[in-house]
Amino acid sequence: MAVSPGGKSSEAVAAGGAAPSGAGAPAARRHSRLTVLSGPSGVGKSTVAAELRRRHPDIWISVSVTTRKPRPGEVDGREYRFVDEREFDRLVASGELLEWAEFAGSKYGTPREPVRRRIGQGLPTLLEIDLVGARQVRKSMEDAVLVFLAPPSWEELVRRLTGRGTESAEVIERRLDVARQELAAAGEFDHTLVNTSVEEVCRQMVTLINSYQ
Ligand code: 5GP
Repeated sequence: MAVSPGGKSSEAVAAGGAAPSGAGAPAARRHSRLTVLSGPSGVGKSTVAAELRRRHPDIWISVSVTTRKPRPGEVDGREYRFVDEREFDRLVASGELLEWAEFAGSKYGTPREPVRRRIGQGLPTLLEIDLVGARQVRKSMEDAVLVFLAPPSWEELVRRLTGRGTESAEVIERRLDVARQELAAAGEFDHTLVNTSVEEVCRQMVTLINSYQ
């Protein structure tokens, strides 16, 4: 399997190496552990999330709020809940977001309550967020499992970031700057998966999520 140096493989986890309750009888767990998928923009996080949503509806994926305008094909309430600045600021001020970050001129955040509810019910729960948000989750939820999605190469990441064709040159350049910093952060994560194919990463994600339930 593809993992970057120092990263743990999902096989190792599945074999019991990092399973929360050891190799014996599983301890009763009232809540599930939150899984966070992060990594540079353009690496394919949202594609992996969409594929997981399609193939594994049992894994609940949080719908973020954002001040970004919808892209063609995006549906309010499915990819994101699209809100204006005023509503986003209200959500922040009232503590309704588990984490939030500003990215390339727009704000993104995770509504706290739905995540709390799913975890409390012991259901597999996933966030797909940027690095700034992942660090906030690390601080506020110590047992969250952080997964870093890495590109097969820097060239491939640049190709993906510039090939989307929906953003201005200025936005792409800002995203590349952030991506350079984000790639260096892989060591902060519990696991690193290299996005060689969406199907393979999905398979590894499911193995990881199940091993931490
Ligand atoms: P995009 O505009 O391409 O959909 O997303 C831009 C970046 O925002 C991606 O890296 C994505 O993972 C991140 N993102 C999406 N939702 C959230 C969120 O709720 N919180 C944070 N911190 N980042 C998010």
